[in-house]
Amino acid sequence: MNAMPDMLNFAVGPVMSDDDILAIGAEQVPYFRTAEFSEVMKENEKMLLELADAPADSRAVFLTTSGTGAMEAAVINTLDTTDKVLVVNGGSFGQRFCDLCSLHSIEHTAIELKFGTPLRHEDLEPYENAGYTAFLVNMNETSSGVLYDIELISQFCKRNNLFLIVDAVSAFLTDPFSLSASGAGIMLTGSQKALGCPPGISMLVLTPDALERVKRIESGSMYLDIKSALTNGERGQTPFTPAVSILLQIHRRLKKIIEAGGQKSETDRVRSIAEDLRTRIAHLPLTLFGSSPSHGVTAFQTPFGVSAHKIFEILKDEYNIWICPNGGQYKDTVFRIGHMGALTTDDNKRLVEALDDLHQRGLL
Ligand SMILES: *Cc1c(COP(=O)(O)O)cnc(C)c1O
Repeated sequence: MNAMPDMLNFAVGPVMSDDDILAIGAEQVPYFRTAEFSEVMKENEKMLLELADAPADSRAVFLTTSGTGAMEAAVINTLDTTDKVLVVNGGSFGQRFCDLCSLHSIEHTAIELKFGTPLRHEDLEPYENAGYTAFLVNMNETSSGVLYDIELISQFCKRNNLFLIVDAVSAFLTDPFSLSASGAGIMLTGSQKALGCPPGISMLVLTPDALERVKRIESGSMYLDIKSALTNGERGQTPFTPAVSILLQIHRRLKKIIEAGGQKSETDRVRSIAEDLRTRIAHLPLTLFGSSPSHGVTAFQTPFGVSAHKIFEILKDEYNIWICPNGGQYKDTVFRIGHMGALTTDDNKRLVEALDDLHQRGLL
């Protein structure tokens, strides 16, 4: 039997990791209530604040949860029943913020967007001076690959004095973002997307405005309580046993990104991978789905009669290449190709060769 070629992962999390990151995961997990680990965590916080371009006196916390844990932590620690919240809902992650608000009895209005379309000025207009206090957005709505105009949102929030929470789980380090310039209160992200580490850690960067809210609001949760994460973080610790290895992997990754030039050099690198893929794939009968694509992921529509989910399955089973299927009503018409993690233009080449092969076989 022929050996399968190495796995190649174009999903949108978990993504491919560099070899040195994988090597850390292969080591024994060290005990963490030590001065050495505290030092690592203090550096993690400092590096994350730098890469997010956070304003002075901001803090960052590292929670052992997936990205949704950070979304929920943001909602329960910085919003309460006195808030009135706007949520951009253009896909499954926007819907998740709505569900979290409902679950925690936070009054909210969803700005419903057609799947695959960007947020426009006209979508915000009805909500000017309308008594809202906060705004929730997934900077990249990963389910459609649409990148929202953070400048538009930022201006709207500044004008209306709204507390802005930016879920940048798939946008941090793929598309330019500055916590200072945006005026956002919180930027949150996860280990398994552009950071290129295994899933398990999510991070929140909190500005002084957010810290003020955290101090005032009772989260009602023990595990996701940001107050206790902040207090423990002052000495480089976490309230509970964290995913130690992933925090060591994140430490290595953040350090390497900073050494290579910081946020801009990393977003430039990801953009070049995304642009390379979009150019290479252009001759195939696939059309870009939606508009305003992020650099972290591109969604494609398959031609009439070709099941997108079937393409995903064949690539996985016969080529050991993983793209990202869509769900629900787009299951058979849309798939996504991620550009996050340890991918190269050679990897793009191998993917497009496999798609060429499917085309030749009459399957695409
Ligand atoms: C991946 C992702 C999340 C987090 O998903 P988890 O499965 O909980 O890690 C949240 N928001 C966005 C925009 C994402 O892309």
